[in-house]
Amino acid sequence: MNIAALPDSLARLGFDNRFTRELPADPVSGSDRRQIRDAMYSRVEPTPGSAPRLVAWWPEVAELVGLDPAACDSEAFAEIFTGNRLLPGMDPHATCYGGHQFGNWAGQLGDGRAINLGEVVRSDGQHWMLQLKGAGPTPYSRMADGYAVLRSSIREFLCSEAMHHLGVPTTRALSLTLTGDEVVRDMLYDGHPAPEPGAVVCRVAPSFTRFGHFEMLTARRETALLERFVDFTIRTDFPHLAEAGDTAERCAAWFAEVCERTARMIVEWMRVGFVHGVMNTDNMSVLGLTIDYGPYGWLDDYDPDWTPNTTDAAGRRYRFGYQPRIAQWNLLQLANALYPLVGEAPPLEAGLKRYEQLYLDGWRDARLAKLGLGELRPETDLALLDDLEDVLTATETDMTLFFRHLADVTPEDPDPLARLAEAYYEPADLDGAAGRTVRGWLARYQARVAEEGLPAGERRSRMNAVNPKFVLRNYLAQLAIDAAEQGDFGMIHGLQDVLRTPYDEHPGHEDWAGRRPDWARTRVGCSMLSCSS
Ligand code: AMP
Ligand code: MG
Repeated sequence: MNIAALPDSLARLGFDNRFTRELPADPVSGSDRRQIRDAMYSRVEPTPGSAPRLVAWWPEVAELVGLDPAACDSEAFAEIFTGNRLLPGMDPHATCYGGHQFGNWAGQLGDGRAINLGEVVRSDGQHWMLQLKGAGPTPYSRMADGYAVLRSSIREFLCSEAMHHLGVPTTRALSLTLTGDEVVRDMLYDGHPAPEPGAVVCRVAPSFTRFGHFEMLTARRETALLERFVDFTIRTDFPHLAEAGDTAERCAAWFAEVCERTARMIVEWMRVGFVHGVMNTDNMSVLGLTIDYGPYGWLDDYDPDWTPNTTDAAGRRYRFGYQPRIAQWNLLQLANALYPLVGEAPPLEAGLKRYEQLYLDGWRDARLAKLGLGELRPETDLALLDDLEDVLTATETDMTLFFRHLADVTPEDPDPLARLAEAYYEPADLDGAAGRTVRGWLARYQARVAEEGLPAGERRSRMNAVNPKFVLRNYLAQLAIDAAEQGDFGMIHGLQDVLRTPYDEHPGHEDWAGRRPDWARTRVGCSMLSCSS
């Protein structure tokens, strides 16, 4: 076999694999399914694809890990990031974690289709774990195959970076490749399995450590390893806490920081209208990063009860408006897992309370910013914020367009509702009670904006910096998928350009900023997604 030449910046990548060097390994390697004990990970190699082909990559993530554009356009890059070739210094492995799925303890889960290649270390000392998603089976694949299909990989590839550029903490995405092999999926779990193109996304993060890693150790009563792993996590991902008191104090301080980061992440989800869809504890990063893009979705019309995940349609546990509470429930599971190290409840309870307070304050501030208001004036603003929910649900209202166009409403405007016309799916509703609700609120809002007294241009740019024009609407991702499945990757690349600066105007792309078209209202992939991926 011909081995493609290795471009310079790929050849120069330096690895420092702290995770596999410092933590205990499963003595067995290979992908035979098994339960492991007293170990954090199993060594396993990616399964090569039969014809690796690069679909897209993100230059800003390449730069983060030290790769230049020439390297990313190379054949070797496609081979490496499909799992066909390893670089010297890589140490491929899958990690073991458990988790609460839909509220129930599920036992050992683990990286069933994620393989960590190794930790790139940069000159500033920052480590970046490179992880292939969809590169074949691991000991944790359970009944599944370890592969991923193109449609779900496009969704993860685009959304990770869309979130980053919106200012939401998230794992990153370097590349999207086709393996050249087909993967069979029953997309709606209704007895219609069909072959789909297999794909791999290379994800990048300081670490992929989840709440479930700690839960697994405590469930197995492996307290010594739990202590070791908490210590490792603090030293590597939270070094500023490494000197904080004894084990119990350090652990509680660390938990409090996980609570803080989680609160910040959830505020950002709510600010941009993101619904994760599967907030199981195995999908919660201790770094407070959005992780594991599965059946996620974006609110088109503002509906706090909406969930994109058909698997969750009955209970709607992971609906938009419930995410803040679920995150706290997940933190409680992490607290329980850490209890053996802390030995008493109050320090952990303090973290949970801190979460609540930070979330409430953060959500209030985020909404004030979305309205273009600075300092809170409690006498007017608390009611204005409270009533916003009624305004957005009075009739079907596009969340993104409502806030973006709110910047056009000036205090003097005699017909402020006209500025918001774009946001309404059922404009006729505005002739009745809904119109009265919205008009009444807008009049109060105008008065408040007048008091704020900002020059119109300044107010607009303030608001446009927190109210995106472009989000990865579900139907946009689906159109990119439809085209890609026909071999046309142009829309993926076009979306990359727009989503990189989602607060900018992008005059040529008004079509991607509009309301969800009617055909997308009930289409699979647009309003309904299953976990099948
Ligand atoms: P999720 O909730 O989708 O993040 O996944 C839950 C668990 O199922 C994790 O342990 C995943 O690694 C595993 N899993 C999901 N899809 C697959 C697949 N196609 N092959 C192997 N494991 C999978
Ligand atoms: Mg997961």
